[in-house]
Amino acid sequence: MSTEPFAAEAEALDAADPLAAHRDAFVGAETSLVYFDGNSLGRPPRATARRLADFVTAEWGGRLIRGWDESWMDLPFRIGDRLGRLTLGAAAGQTIIGDSTTVLLYKLLRAALSERSASDPERVEIVVGRDDFPTDRYLVEGIAAERGARVVWIEVDTARGVDADLLRAAVGPRTAVVLLSHVSYRSGYLADAENLTRIAHDAGALVLWDLCHSAGSVPVALDAWGVDLAVGCTYKYLNGGPGAPAFAYVAARHQGTLTQPIQGWMGAADVFAMGPEYRPADGMRRFLSGTPPVLAMLAMQDTLDLIDDAGIEAIRAKSVALTEFALRVGDGILSPLGVTLASPRDPSERGGHVTLSHPAMRAVTARLWQQDVIPDYRDPHGLRIGLAPLSTSFTETLTGLMAVAEAVRTES
Ligand SMILES: *Cc1c(COP(=O)(O)O)cnc(C)c1O
Repeated sequence: MSTEPFAAEAEALDAADPLAAHRDAFVGAETSLVYFDGNSLGRPPRATARRLADFVTAEWGGRLIRGWDESWMDLPFRIGDRLGRLTLGAAAGQTIIGDSTTVLLYKLLRAALSERSASDPERVEIVVGRDDFPTDRYLVEGIAAERGARVVWIEVDTARGVDADLLRAAVGPRTAVVLLSHVSYRSGYLADAENLTRIAHDAGALVLWDLCHSAGSVPVALDAWGVDLAVGCTYKYLNGGPGAPAFAYVAARHQGTLTQPIQGWMGAADVFAMGPEYRPADGMRRFLSGTPPVLAMLAMQDTLDLIDDAGIEAIRAKSVALTEFALRVGDGILSPLGVTLASPRDPSERGGHVTLSHPAMRAVTARLWQQDVIPDYRDPHGLRIGLAPLSTSFTETLTGLMAVAEAVRTES
């Protein structure tokens, strides 16, 4: 089929896109490379080069160790609060920038399990989806072994995710904590977080949301939804850079009762008292462990500036428009080649990426990377098309999908 109507549509969508100018804020947007992986490692904002260089010269070089007292000690809280306000629907005092996603998930899962099973010894089950991201599953298994808890697996369709019926069937009077992904890393399935949180609460459990694939792309309302705990990446849609530390949210009502297992000096009540024993700090500081990764948390602030300017609702509107356009193009030029959709069709059940399935997708991905078209591959046979709303254009999306079609033809 001719792609000319799609080319005209892409051009019109770009011309009418209120966020089009934000694309120029990113390094590499001026090149012909097609980037479909902003959901795995976001592009760097141009402003970040200057921010990092200035920090090295003026703050690290100029202030030296005085920098800790003057501002660095507060950065995990200051950036956390701003991230919480702009992307998580979290009032101040509940979000920190901490360790990696993996380590923060570990700390909060352990904290939640201990609290629930201390208040009711029958509550020894951790509920998690069978198709959750590997780190989430491995952590749950490790913690269960460590604490004598039991894992309850929710079997899910890999083209979807955990929904209300599946969760209702998995929770009960023995559930301590439920770990759920807001947007599935594989299918892009967008869970109804408010409803699932209520189901977990009705069973007497705490809920921990993994927001890795939603923060910065899908509006989140942690306070309004009554969420207990959440963790998410900052190097995906928040463009914090490779290995940027994750954020953690603990609802204010839990901060006095939850304690985490990695008891380091930075989480102690009086950091510089260096006292004989650990007493956890009040508030969010108790969820820190060691010295905050200051350099690694600088870059995400540039994307927070962009989100502040654009607004998360407008970002979501563009995200939906991008994935809807990708589906129309896919139906037009990829379905005839035997490519199927492994993501929800209904945009209200879909996050910022779509997964396309075909037996040749592993080879297709390798071929595309050679051509500067960068999606990624996930078993089984899935090509993930990540469409970061601030840095992706409709024309770029069409160019990339046309390259996918060409590669599928060549490889099959
Ligand atoms: C990317 C991702 C992670 C990554 O965890 P790290 O500790 O940063 O490696 C965890 N969970 C989900 C759902 C992810 O998508």
